[in-house]
Amino acid sequence: MVWQRNVVVKTPEEIEIMREAGRINAMALDTARQLIRPGVTTAKLDKAAEQVIRDHGGTPTFMGYPGPYPYPATLTISVNEALVHGIPGKQELKAGDIVSIDCGTTYKGFIADSAFTAGVGEISDDAQKLMDITEKALYIGIKQMQSGHRVGDISAAIQGYVEGNGYHVPREYSGHGVGRQMHEAPQVPNYGRAGRGLVLRPGITLAIEPMLLVGTFRTRVLPDQWTVTSADGSLTAHFEHTVAVTENGPLVLTPMEKVLDGRSIS
Ligand code: MG
Ligand code: MG
Repeated sequence: MVWQRNVVVKTPEEIEIMREAGRINAMALDTARQLIRPGVTTAKLDKAAEQVIRDHGGTPTFMGYPGPYPYPATLTISVNEALVHGIPGKQELKAGDIVSIDCGTTYKGFIADSAFTAGVGEISDDAQKLMDITEKALYIGIKQMQSGHRVGDISAAIQGYVEGNGYHVPREYSGHGVGRQMHEAPQVPNYGRAGRGLVLRPGITLAIEPMLLVGTFRTRVLPDQWTVTSADGSLTAHFEHTVAVTENGPLVLTPMEKVLDGRSIS
């Protein structure tokens, strides 16, 4: 069902499929999370996540994604000043790093997209605070996903909270609609004005993804043409969930907590 401004509203059945995609995605991310330790390569995390997705009948959404050249991996793994789109490879994690891992799973034609940031070994209080504020910003944004609210309410809530804590949000990278495509209308910036933008209705599915930078809102792209870092080299963090607007409020389709203990998928 195509709706105003090309927003694709999902049926309850489609949202259930996205939820299954979300469960697989969460398992893949959790598998990567459990491998985080000093000395592990980012390629090892990537291969483990890919295996989980394929074992459950999904395909890695990011692999082959169009860009400067087709994206070559299952995960994006972005360490410290790298904000998003870091390519897994020979890089070894080291104690004190913070690592942002983003993953997409396509399952039965629908996509789930989510991300988290975690510390490697002992990390600084400043790094921990940055991660905590970023994760909190995610839930502050999600809380605005009520029928009748607008996209600008999500953006303004995230920006207000983040900047109120002295951090910055990028201008070039945003949350987004998600469904059969990884990036659908509308864009969901991490900055904006309340009361503006698309009116939310049940069946709208969005990837909410606050990205925080310590020193500046400016970013740059590394010579690999994918990795985005803070322009000043300061620390960054990123959390993301795919979320549906329902009659009963926001429904997170990619919860990781659910997969930490019970690994089964219904
Ligand atoms: Mg993502
Ligand atoms: Mg996303």
